Amino acid sequence: MSASAPANPKVGFVSLGCPKALVDSERILTQLRVEGYDIVQSYDDADVVVVNTCGFIDSAVTESLDAIGEAIAENGKVIVTGCLGKRSELIREAHPDVLSISGPQDYGSVMSAVHSALPPRHDPFLDLVPRRDDGIGVKLTPKHYAYLKISEGCNHRCSFCIIPSMRGDLVSRPVDDVLREAEKLAMGGVKELLVISQDTSAYGVDVKYAERQWRGKSYQTRMKALCEGLSELGIWTRLHYVYPYPHVDEIIALMAENGANGMPKLLPYLDIPFQHASPRVLKLMKRPGAVDKTLERVQRWRSIAPDIAIRSTFIVGFPGETDAEFEELLDFLDEAQLDRVGAFAYSPVDGAKANDLPDPVPEELKQERLARFMERQAEISAAKLEAKVGSVQRCLVDAIDGELAIARSMADAPEIDGLVQIQNGESAGLRVGQFVDVEIMGSDEHDLFGEAVEND
Ligand code: SF4
Repeated sequence: MSASAPANPKVGFVSLGCPKALVDSERILTQLRVEGYDIVQSYDDADVVVVNTCGFIDSAVTESLDAIGEAIAENGKVIVTGCLGKRSELIREAHPDVLSISGPQDYGSVMSAVHSALPPRHDPFLDLVPRRDDGIGVKLTPKHYAYLKISEGCNHRCSFCIIPSMRGDLVSRPVDDVLREAEKLAMGGVKELLVISQDTSAYGVDVKYAERQWRGKSYQTRMKALCEGLSELGIWTRLHYVYPYPHVDEIIALMAENGANGMPKLLPYLDIPFQHASPRVLKLMKRPGAVDKTLERVQRWRSIAPDIAIRSTFIVGFPGETDAEFEELLDFLDEAQLDRVGAFAYSPVDGAKANDLPDPVPEELKQERLARFMERQAEISAAKLEAKVGSVQRCLVDAIDGELAIARSMADAPEIDGLVQIQNGESAGLRVGQFVDVEIMGSDEHDLFGEAVEND
């Protein structure tokens, strides 16, 4: 006689928002799995649905409210968490039937809400099994790259942003804690770490750069020391959300040096949002405004690490931006020759100080400026990619698609930058998560095309 075991309780999960929210989702999913919940892919299969929301700009708020509405219509039992959870009245007004609302990183509240909606199944055998001892937990990214969150919150008060009011001031994780997590990820097969935070260059300011021990050596809780520690792992490390402080210059040398296994100590890649180039607009944004110095620094970085790829974001049509100030921004693009650029037309965020500024730019003009800005940058990006034709680039394979292997070079972060399509991927026997040297034979506005020349 055989008795089938009762099924595990089933949770559906909707994850919206930025990489920081993705890390929160991974933590919640890990805890759910540890407690014996199954994660299912459809509303029909789920006993309850968790929606991790984003509340950064108005379009993200709408997307989050729509996702909650869809989960209620399709399933009925919905737990809301994440950035929009800080504005619970807005959620309750639109969706009074949600079971519970909590803010970002409030894993305890999410788990309590799941327990009361759907108690975990007590299993006398499984309850004795410890959590996965690789310490990695559930990851939403592919196995070969992972986001590494080093801090929460932000000490700046950029006038267009409400993140500090949602996530609070900077709280840095101790450096040994971060290095241990990175080490486990590398041991688990991760080949690329994507360092994220709200403000990576401020790392450790709140703990006065406290020193900790890792692998018998002292490291300060500080961006440069963290990068030095990560370089010991012999995999790619990519920095995101670097605020343009002067001390960023200190890490550029690491990008030009190779570690013991020939990997760059730090990827020659800097995601550094400049937001604008007019000193007056930057002042209104409450951002650093010495634009001449920024250009000088970009040149200096390139003289130290000639392969550095600089990614930045900009806001056009900020309140009060004049035609002349917008032209200054275009001139900056011409001079800085940035590799990757994202831009947004300014959109007021509920609760942001910038909403009180005079002279809003009319919507039509904002869109016109955005189109001109993107057109100018597209030419620059296309020329920069074309200049790589004939070179050999070290790439990391993300996927195999028939004969093609889809990879990224050191200049391409996942999701936001371009790709390298390797035409002979299958015949070269490439695998996902493998490093490979690729001879570049063609380019377009975003991507590169080439052939594998050498495998690991
Ligand atoms: S540095 Fe970033 S997170 Fe901090 S206030 Fe400015 S835009 Fe917001």
